[in-house]
Amino acid sequence: MIKVNEIFYSIQGESTYAGLPCVFVRLTYCNLRCTYCDTEYAFYEGKDFTIPEIISEVKKYNCKLVEITGGEPLFQMEECLDLMKQLCDQDFEVLLETSGSLSIKEVDKRVKVIMDLKCPSSGMLKKTLYENINYLKPEDELKFVIGNREDYDWSVEIMKKYNLEKKCTILFSVVFGKLEPVQLVNWILEDKLNIRFQLQMHKFIWHPETRGV
Ligand code: SF4
Repeated sequence: MIKVNEIFYSIQGESTYAGLPCVFVRLTYCNLRCTYCDTEYAFYEGKDFTIPEIISEVKKYNCKLVEITGGEPLFQMEECLDLMKQLCDQDFEVLLETSGSLSIKEVDKRVKVIMDLKCPSSGMLKKTLYENINYLKPEDELKFVIGNREDYDWSVEIMKKYNLEKKCTILFSVVFGKLEPVQLVNWILEDKLNIRFQLQMHKFIWHPETRGV
């Protein structure tokens, strides 16, 4: 059984898949407590599903793009790995949104991983598992959620230290409501960074606190 917080159909708000219709499977639980978390309701709320039940729910939307998210989906490691494998076996294109604090080593190679590297203002800096960088594939994406200048400087330093530009797509976005997008864009342009800026599109389409979108 897997504890599932919600399954819904919406527009992908982030990553290079932004703008595409997508089914989201939000799993319950998280091992982190980021200062800016917008899905605290996923820490404990949820209902038990079997994998076939989840897949049958996903199929109702007739959409081949599926994101497994949370909370932290890898918190239910074995079940989550199995769910993603079975979705891939059934020809779904699977995205995994993860915080970078739990190992992605065993994630099926057909899954596209979108992984955070938590910045200082998240309060979770020490939770990052840096060995995960070794398991990233060129088609995966690494996300920095930036809340202030310190976060930005830290992100640039980490990018250089681990040569991340050569590994996969790098995404920079703002902590919603904490840092003005224009400020981050100006810093990126001043430094001529070879990264992709993004906004959480769903927070502009719907009210920022709307659930299930
Ligand atoms: S990892 Fe995600 S779900 Fe967990 S506390 Fe941080 S922002 Fe919230």
